[in-house]
Amino acid sequence: MYIFKKVEDLQNYLTQLRESGKSIGFVPTMGALHAGHISLIEQANQGSDITVCSIFVNPTQFDNADDLKKYARNLPKDAKMLGDALTNVLFAPNIDEVYPPGLETEVDLDFGQLTKVMEGRFRTGHFEGMVQVVNRLLNIVAPDSLYMGQKDFQQAAIVKNMLEQQKRKTQLVVCPIIREPHGLAMSSRNERLSAEDRTLAKVLHEALLEAKQNIQQSDITSIKNAAQEKIASAGLKLDYFEIADANTLLPIAAADQSTEIVACVAAFLKDVRLIDNMILLKAISR
Ligand code: AMP
Repeated sequence: MYIFKKVEDLQNYLTQLRESGKSIGFVPTMGALHAGHISLIEQANQGSDITVCSIFVNPTQFDNADDLKKYARNLPKDAKMLGDALTNVLFAPNIDEVYPPGLETEVDLDFGQLTKVMEGRFRTGHFEGMVQVVNRLLNIVAPDSLYMGQKDFQQAAIVKNMLEQQKRKTQLVVCPIIREPHGLAMSSRNERLSAEDRTLAKVLHEALLEAKQNIQQSDITSIKNAAQEKIASAGLKLDYFEIADANTLLPIAAADQSTEIVACVAAFLKDVRLIDNMILLKAISR
């Protein structure tokens, strides 16, 4: 595996590969890698000739300074995991490479309600920062395919919209959520939870599963109330448990208002903020 820290060195290397006809798959991450990230690498290895993974803890997408400070960082361990997973290139830039002084990197696009609901309501500026870094990394890497996790459902919806608005050739591949054996969605933030807390946190997955079981026979309000109570009684502090149209991300009041329904949840366990989601209903295409 090649490790690049400089944009110029990475681009020189990728240009040669592109000219020899190789397709490039890209997996952007913030490090503290786990099996969820590695599943994206595996999908990229299958779908593209060259897999590039970036590790950059992007300060502009953190709405909470403490969360940024506490974000787990371990580049040698991450590099070992990526090497073992047969990643071709690790791009691990410092902040001046991503945001060189004088370069305009903010993205001026309107995502409508996609950036306003759910995470957008609770994490001011988060999506502006996420869009900024993904756009900058796409400009640097210019991949044929971009691999992102369903774990960040709203993020993937916004990036898909950005690719469409910018008419980029890059294809977005959204990969399934990888979970701990007891159901908790894997996340870099789980490192800050004790084994006991991780067991408590599996209530998020259980609440999503219950919502999925009940979506055909119960009304949306009862499903949401049941989920909220279940999560609160496990001791987590809920930001939201929302049931929405999976394409527009707008909340729905009844299951027949949408052909694809997603439930998204965000809650704090102590000072660790966790998110999860599940497709509740998907119409079979005719
Ligand atoms: P992060 O390092 O948290 O920014 O995540 C980098 C990428 O990995 C994003 O596209 C995430 O959606 C994806 N990801 C994070 N956790 C998981 C998981 N448990 N399963 C699948 N993909 C994940």
